[in-house]
Amino acid sequence: MTTERALSPSAFAELGEPGRLRIAIPNKGRLMDPIVLLLRDAGLVFADTSRALFARVEDHPIDILSVRTDDIAEFVADGVADLGITGANLLVEAEVDLPIELSLGFGRCRLEAAVPLAHPATSLADLDGLRIATSHPASARRLLAERGVQVEIVGVSGAVEVAPRLGLADAIVDLVSSGSTLVMNGLRPVGELLRSEAVIVGRKEWDPERRALADELLMMLGAVLAGRRVKYLMMNAHVDDLPAIEAILPGLESPSVIPLAQTGMVAVHAVVGSAEVSSLLPRLKGAGASGLLVVPVEKLLP
Ligand code: AMP
Repeated sequence: MTTERALSPSAFAELGEPGRLRIAIPNKGRLMDPIVLLLRDAGLVFADTSRALFARVEDHPIDILSVRTDDIAEFVADGVADLGITGANLLVEAEVDLPIELSLGFGRCRLEAAVPLAHPATSLADLDGLRIATSHPASARRLLAERGVQVEIVGVSGAVEVAPRLGLADAIVDLVSSGSTLVMNGLRPVGELLRSEAVIVGRKEWDPERRALADELLMMLGAVLAGRRVKYLMMNAHVDDLPAIEAILPGLESPSVIPLAQTGMVAVHAVVGSAEVSSLLPRLKGAGASGLLVVPVEKLLP
């Protein structure tokens, strides 16, 4: 199938225009949806990227190249795209050294080595001399070699966790997030090789015009991520209860206190961490706050 085949960077080289920023994102797979959502939340309007290889962003000088997740690092390394959004582990796998412009906090996983439950290995060192099945051959070889562990790599493209049962390998190296796939396949982790999350990488050398476009986009994406980490909290209170309420509210900045028409009453507004909101609400209520509202924050630029 042609859509499955890695597209050569030169096939895209003609597509961009000078003065427009080119950003490569996955056209399928687990990172695609959260990346598309992030771009849309930042205000970019563009057509369905899972259907087209190339999308123009409306009202912004930005073009989106929608390619295989595995190819993104090379597209940026080759200068076909200015920015790329992909898993940090795939930079290691592609053996490219590109600056990370922004870490996105999703797509978190670990590259781990695991053995069948009955295997005697308990650490990465115990894998020395064994056959390791993996779909991340370059990362596995390099990260194990860095720890002084020499292995025979058996490259597989999927269903890595069944390789020991099939007698293809003694152990595996695979990406893990919860670890439940390992457990389901009777495997036990023996060591972590890498931690990964989705990242934005950038080209090494920029012309000033494109760099300014990239900085603007990165600032908006950063503002969306920062906004997701907080909530806007609003409540009413009597001025006498303000000291107790202010003592409960965390944060670097003091809350906004706005007088209300009713004498002695104020509205208190504060930005608080998303994770803290649930525990703050009953305490604020107990301190005299009423009419508490929790509102999502679309973007936050500190
Ligand atoms: P894809 O193969 O296109 O679905 O994307 C796989 C990428 O998603 C990996 O290279 C990782 O960067 C990331 N990822 C996050 N969690 C996991 C996981 N549990 N298993 C595999 N890949 C993961």
